[in-house]
Amino acid sequence: MNDLKKRDTKLHRVYLDNATTSFPKPESVYRVVECFMRDCGGSAGRSGHYAAIEAQRIIDDARLLCAGLLNAPSPQNIIFTPNATTAINIALKGILSTNDNVVFGSFEHNAVTRPLYSLSKCGISVTKIESDLDSGLDKEQLKNAIRSDTRLVICNHVSNVFGTENDVVGIGRICRESGVLFMVDAAQSAGVKLIDVQGMCIDLLAFSGHKSLFGLQGTGGLYVASGVQVRPLIEGGTGSAAVGVMSSDEMFEQPAKLPDKLESGTINTHGIVGLAAGLRFIFETGIDRIAAKELELVSRLVNGLQEINGIRVISPAKKFNRGSVVSFQHDSIPPDQIAAILDTGFGIAVRSGLHCAFAPHQTIGTIKSGGTVRISPNYFNNESEIDYCIDAIRKIS
Ligand code: PLP
Repeated sequence: MNDLKKRDTKLHRVYLDNATTSFPKPESVYRVVECFMRDCGGSAGRSGHYAAIEAQRIIDDARLLCAGLLNAPSPQNIIFTPNATTAINIALKGILSTNDNVVFGSFEHNAVTRPLYSLSKCGISVTKIESDLDSGLDKEQLKNAIRSDTRLVICNHVSNVFGTENDVVGIGRICRESGVLFMVDAAQSAGVKLIDVQGMCIDLLAFSGHKSLFGLQGTGGLYVASGVQVRPLIEGGTGSAAVGVMSSDEMFEQPAKLPDKLESGTINTHGIVGLAAGLRFIFETGIDRIAAKELELVSRLVNGLQEINGIRVISPAKKFNRGSVVSFQHDSIPPDQIAAILDTGFGIAVRSGLHCAFAPHQTIGTIKSGGTVRISPNYFNNESEIDYCIDAIRKIS
């Protein structure tokens, strides 16, 4: 922190790495987290005192807000997890069994491809569908790939590497017609794209709390449609038990109902308090307004980058139906050098490399050249920050 302050005096700081985690958060997020830590501090579902009851009220409220955001039938369909990666692991490992087939897109994050790789070593077959920079996952290929043993299709809503948006409505329809489960990795879209799990035929959905939902790191969640059976990855540590009503066998068993079944251990209540404030900010501001501002900034950024000699923008060539992520390469300067100079010379935070996603780079052919530089503006950035970043890249170039 002290080092950061020293650098502050010399450099104008611009944060453009919101696809990794969003910064800053709305003021209300800072306020409520501090208030909870100072004035409440209880743990939900354990004790019966005022602080535990208040913590439970906060968790229930946050669950309701998440259900509203996704149009889930009930708050009980929402499981809180430490991040989207955990949510994806719970779903994949809790649904798939030996001899099942799972279909996934070629732009998936490591959070999807690594669990799938390890499951493929345990008798589960995996089928990869090619994705295109502009149109995303190929739906014709998907239709042909679904087999009698296919249990699940998983893809992201928005690619964290290129900003490509998948047609989740179309993909959901194909899955429903084929009788297979559909899971969406909404780490990059929850909070900035309209999501209707019921209307979009989504059975499972993972989200990050710390990106476009403006919550704290260490928060995320999983939506599980009613009736979808997920085996718990972690057991124990919930308070739900009825002494005198349940038999001793039942007392030893993991609860069967959601969310308790999949939500063992003390919840990150401090984080969830912040997540609820982030969600309230989104509802008050409006997803449409947030998305429109982000896409305006993205458009300005892409136009500016395209005018710089030696720069190749590797992102969808469209203004709408895409995410707020722009990747690019320079024809002679490696991505990590550009990101380092932007950081130390201009105070601009962007990300370089593979962005925790090997498969998309394998698909587009950007591995040998060191991945890409990724710029991800959000609602709290402005046009002058984008112009400052374009100007800095022009100078580096
Ligand atoms: N999926 C995608 C598309 C992502 O961009 C990320 C994070 O960048 C993840 C999954 C993992 O999210 P988390 O950091 O919340 O585990």
